[in-house]
Formats: sequence, structure tokens, C-alpha cells
Amino acid sequence: MAQYDVIVIGAGPGGYVAAIRCAQLGLKTACVEGRETLGGTCLNVGCIPSKALLHASHQLHEAEHNFAAMGLKGETPSVDWKQMLSYKDDVIGQNTKGIEFLFKKNKIDWLKGWGSIPEAGKVKVGDDVYEAKNIIVASGSVPSSVPGAEVEIDEKVIVTSTGALELPEIPKKMIVIGAGVIGLEMGSVYARLGAEVEVIEFLDHITPGMDADVQKSLQKLLSKQGLKFTLGAAVSKVEATDGKGKVTYKLRKDDSEHEVDADVVLVATGRKPFVDGLGLEALGVEMTKRGQIATNDHWETSVKGVYAIGDAIEGPMLAHKAEDEGMACAEVLAGKAGHVNYGVIPGVIYTHPEVASVGKTEAQLKDEGRAYKVGKFSFMGNGRAKAVFAGDGFVKILADKETDRVLGCHIIGPAAGDLIHEVCVIMEYGGSAEDLALTCHAHPTFSEAVREAALACGDGAIHA
Ligand code: FAD
Repeated sequence: MAQYDVIVIGAGPGGYVAAIRCAQLGLKTACVEGRETLGGTCLNVGCIPSKALLHASHQLHEAEHNFAAMGLKGETPSVDWKQMLSYKDDVIGQNTKGIEFLFKKNKIDWLKGWGSIPEAGKVKVGDDVYEAKNIIVASGSVPSSVPGAEVEIDEKVIVTSTGALELPEIPKKMIVIGAGVIGLEMGSVYARLGAEVEVIEFLDHITPGMDADVQKSLQKLLSKQGLKFTLGAAVSKVEATDGKGKVTYKLRKDDSEHEVDADVVLVATGRKPFVDGLGLEALGVEMTKRGQIATNDHWETSVKGVYAIGDAIEGPMLAHKAEDEGMACAEVLAGKAGHVNYGVIPGVIYTHPEVASVGKTEAQLKDEGRAYKVGKFSFMGNGRAKAVFAGDGFVKILADKETDRVLGCHIIGPAAGDLIHEVCVIMEYGGSAEDLALTCHAHPTFSEAVREAALACGDGAIHA
């Protein structure tokens, strides 16, 4: 029977990163993956393919809306959808093969197949049983359905994000259920490619949990791009009839019932942990009320020697959160002090403009009764943004009223997903808005808007 120091189950960003770090720290490591390729949801049907389609469709948007103004004349490109899908598949292939290369480089055995844990210290893959001193479960998540509604997913007409990444053709009309990150990203892709997109959301606002100013601004900007929003709507039924999708919902404000149809309905109401077939119940692993694997501060489950990370446990379902837990858990197993700062995990929406957020929102600070100040700066005052038609949006920094310590930052605008990281670093070090404001920022960059927002927390922004 093959013996390992660590066996990781699942090769998504949580699992493959954990496996690489374990191997780097000198532990004999194997990783079990049931998919044909490594990389999990993120590389195969999540972050990476969605960003490829967002990139390609954004280029089209630029050509249609901004090229002529810059003196770039000529016919607007037409869409070869098959080629766009094959570009996306090529990007997936390069990334998943990259992980295979890293496994070989770090001498990690890929145990191909679906794994289960018959008892602590053992992992079964097919008919083979392997021994491991420690096991890390990184089995990820799968799309969840619409709460309280009848939904028949066929991945053709009624699709999850997985089906939405490989539609045989661009639909004329698409309904997106759920105005969260995935719904808005995929909705943006198809709206830019010419589809009429209607987003139906239960709440009265989009992007639950985000800063209210950002929510309002993003909804306005996406509406300008042609997305239609029906908010405060409780969906009761989603069905496919005669090749068309039909959605029935009730408006919460007056209980009126409505039916809408479309060529494709994307159900994007969230994801749930995937733990099927692992044998966790028989093993006695405690779960949370929401079906996540319960862990302690060191990612150990209620069963000694069995750890869990990523989407399968509590916390935001984000690739970088899974990766950080993967690294930290590996360090714990190697006898080091693994650490994840859950207060500083950025969240990004890759629409155009991008949205990025870290730390507390204003609503959270109000709930906590904490005295804070707001420094806000519009990208309209940023020379670089104006030069590239990206003046929409703002940077908003929240800092403690007395100590000036940065407590949160919310950005909507160009490259928001990159800009957020200087604020993450400041927060990681417990720094102040003044620290950001005193740091020289190169001109002309989008980053200057972050500095200006930090200046606005003190004596005032210069270009406001
Ligand atoms: P997963 O990536 O889900 O990987 C788990 C792996 O475990 C899977 O490959 C599965 O096959 C395998 N597995 C499960 N059980 C077993 C078993 N018993 N035996 C063997 N193998 C098993 N996050 C971001 O941070 N940024 C984004 O831009 C982003 N975009 C997204 C877009 C979409 C459309 C979707 C769906 C998700 C997106 N996410 C994004 C979320 C991100 O993909 C997840 O948070 C991340 O993949 C979680 O990583 P994980 O390692 O926990 O699990």
C-alpha cells in the first residue's frame, strides 16, 4: 500500500496549492482528482474561462464604442462564436497543463479518480487504498438551485455557469436569475455579444454584501450597457418548453405574478459545498448547518488528521481564499504557523467597469457603531482614466475616525481588481489612510485615484 505524508482530495485552487506547498515543505504528497484535468472549478469552468470570454467580449465593446473616437476607423469586428469558444478552451488548456507541469516539478503524484475516506489515515481511489498521515479535503463546490423554486437544469436551455460557458450559439434573449458576481459577469458577456439580457434578483439591490454606493453605481452603469434589472422578484418556477426557457416570479412589493421567456435561462443563485461520495458522514466529520465541513482555526475537522479548505468550508467562495487556506494548511501540517487573515480578503467583479472591495462596508461599520471617515475620489478626476474612456466610477476608502487606520475600500472603475491590492497591503500592516496618501504614486496611473481617496480622508484630494 502506497504511503504518503499528505493526500489532498481535489485539485482546485485550494487543493493544488496545498499539494504544491506540502511538497515544497518536504512532505511526500499525492493529490486525488476525479476530473480529466487539474485546476478544479476555477481553471476548468470558473474564474479562467469566464475571464477569457469577458476579455474577448470587452474588446468587441471597445471596438464598437470607443475606437472611432480615437481615430481608429474600419469595420467593427463581427463575432466568430466558435473561435471565441475555442480561444477560451485554449486558455483553459494552457492553465490546466500548467498545473500538471507544477505537479511533476514538485514530485506530486496525481491519483486519478474519485476519492473517499474509509477511515482516518486512508484514502480510497477506485479499488486502490492509500495511506496518509494527514488528509486535506478540498472538494470544492457546485452550483446551487433557486431556493424554494422548481427548477429543471438541462445545461442547454436552463443552464448553470458551466453551461453558460459553452452555449452552442449566442442567445437572442437571456434571463439571468441572481444579480451576484457570476450572474453579472456572464450577463455582461452575452449583453456585449448582442443578447438582450434581463437579470432577475430576489433582493432590492444587486451584488449582495457589497458597499451600497458601489451597488447603485454598478447597476446604473450596467443598465447603460443594456442589461435590464428586475429586482425584488421571488422566482417560483424555471422550466424549458419547446426549446425556450420560462421563468415565473412574483414581485415582492405587490405579490403580482409574472412570466418571462428567453432562449437561455442562467441560474446564478450561488454555489454549495460538494462533499458527495467522500464518506464524511460515516467517518463522523461534523458539518455546519449550511452543509459546509466544519473546521477549527487550523483547518482540522472533528476527525483528527482530516483537514478541509476552500469552497467546501465556511467563508467566501473565492479561489484566492481557497489558495491561502491551502498554503496555510500545508504549513500547519509541516509544523509551521499557517495563517489566513480573513479580514483582508478582496472580492472582485470583472464587469466593465470592474468592482473591487476589501474590509468593511459603511453599513457594517454603522452596525458596529464604529466612528469612521470616508475618503472618496471619482475617476473623472484621474487623467489616465479619462484618456481611456474609463472615467466612470470612484475609489472609496473608509478609515477609523480617530486613528485613521484603513478599515475598508470599495472601488468601481478601471483595473479595480488590481488597484485594491495596495489597500490590502496597507490593511495587512494595520496602516493608515495617511500612509497611503504619503506614498508617492506614479503619474499618470489609475492608482493615483487610490491616493486621492486616501488624501480625501485627511486634508482633501487635489484633483477633486
Ligand atoms: P474547486 O475549484 O471546486 O475544486 C474542487 C475539485 O475537487 C474539483 O476539481 C472536483 O472535481 C474535485 N473533487 C471533488 N470531490 C472529489 C473526490 N471525492 N475525489 C476526487 N476529486 C474530487 N473565484 C475567484 O476568486 N475569482 C473569480 O473570478 C471567480 N470566478 C468564478 C466564475 C465562475 C463561473 C465560477 C463557477 C466560480 C468562480 N469563482 C471565482 C469561484 C472559484 O472558482 C472557487 O472559489 C474555487 O474554484 C474554489 O476552489 P476549491 O479548490 O475549493 O474547489
